[in-house]
Amino acid sequence: MNVISRSSWGAKPWNGTPSYVALSQRTEFFIHYDGATPINYTGVQVPQAIERTHINQGWAGVGYNFVVDQAGNVYEGRGWTKQGAHCPGHNVSGIGVQIAIGGSQEPSDKALAAARALYDEACRKTGRTLAKKGHRDGIATACPGAKLYTWVLDGMPADGYDTPTTPPSSGGGSGSSGWNGKSFPGASAFKLGQSHAAVTVLGQRLVAHGYGRFYKEGPGPRFTEVDKDATQAFQKAQGWTGTDADGYPGTETWKRLMTAPAKGPSTPPKSQIVALNGAVKPGATHAQVKELQQLLVKAGYGPIPGAYTTLYGAGTQKAVARFHTKNPHLKGAGLSYDPAIGKKGFVELQKEADRK
Ligand SMILES: [Zn+2]
Repeated sequence: MNVISRSSWGAKPWNGTPSYVALSQRTEFFIHYDGATPINYTGVQVPQAIERTHINQGWAGVGYNFVVDQAGNVYEGRGWTKQGAHCPGHNVSGIGVQIAIGGSQEPSDKALAAARALYDEACRKTGRTLAKKGHRDGIATACPGAKLYTWVLDGMPADGYDTPTTPPSSGGGSGSSGWNGKSFPGASAFKLGQSHAAVTVLGQRLVAHGYGRFYKEGPGPRFTEVDKDATQAFQKAQGWTGTDADGYPGTETWKRLMTAPAKGPSTPPKSQIVALNGAVKPGATHAQVKELQQLLVKAGYGPIPGAYTTLYGAGTQKAVARFHTKNPHLKGAGLSYDPAIGKKGFVELQKEADRK
C-alpha cells in the first residue's frame, strides 16, 4: 500500500485547517468518481486538478481522503486522520476515496485493486469492518456512476489482489474472560481492532499518566491506533527505543502504567527560619527585636512588659535569660545569667516557637 503523500504530488498548503478525526470514529468507506467527464490522464495532475476545483469551492484542499488514478496510484488527500469534504453528514464517519474516472469510463483493474487495498488498510487501521458505500448511499447524486456503484454493491472485488485472509475482528471481547482486571493480560489482549477489557484499563492508566491528549474519545475496550500511539509515547518517555517502543504494551509497560504517575520533583517547603541580625543586642534598638519578643512569648518565655517594641529592653533581656536557663548549652561561655540571644539560640527559639 504505497500512498503518494501530499508533498510528493505537490499539494498546496491547506487553505485553513481540516479537523482531526480519530480512526476510531470511522465506520464507513465511500467510493466516488470524478463526475460526468472522462479523465484521460494519470499522475499528479489528477489530484492537482481536484485540488484546484476544491480550493475554488472554498475548501481546504482535496476533499477526498484519497484519490486513486487509473494506473493504480494512490494520492493522499485528507489522509487517515483529517475530516474530509466529500459527502455531507459522512465526512467524519466516512473515509472518502475518489477513483479518478468520469462518465461511463471503465475503471481499470489496477484502480479497483488499489481502492480495495485502501479499503482493507482502512479496516486494519480502524480495527473494524467498515461499511462499503457509494456516494449515492449518503446523498442524492449520480456519483460514483453506475459501474463503480455496481462494484461497491458486489463487495469491491479486485482481480489479482489478495484480500487479507484474516479480516479484523468485528469486535467481541470474549478474550477478556478469565482476566483478573489487574495483572498483565498477555500480549494477545492488544491486537489492533480487537476488544479486551484490559484495553480500557490501559487507556485509563495512560490518561492518568498524562497521555489523555491522544484520546479524542474513549478510552474503550477496542485496541486502536490511538491506544497504540499513546502507548508508544509512554514507552518513548521511558527512554525506550525500537521494539521496546512499538506501541504494544508488554509486562514492563504494564507494570509502570499501573504504578502511580511520578510527580514532578517535589520542592521542600521553604524554611521559615531566619538568621539573627548582629545588631540585635541588649539595650539596642532594631526592627528584629519585635520578632524576638514575639518568639519568646510564643515559646513560653513571657511575659515581656511593654512588648512589642524595637527596644531590646529589660523585659526582653529577662525573657532571653529564661530561655537560656532552659537551654544552658546555648548560653555564652562561663555565663550563669545570659540576657543576650545568640545566633544558635535564635534558631532554637524559632523551632520552639514552632517555626520550621
Ligand atoms: Zn462523490
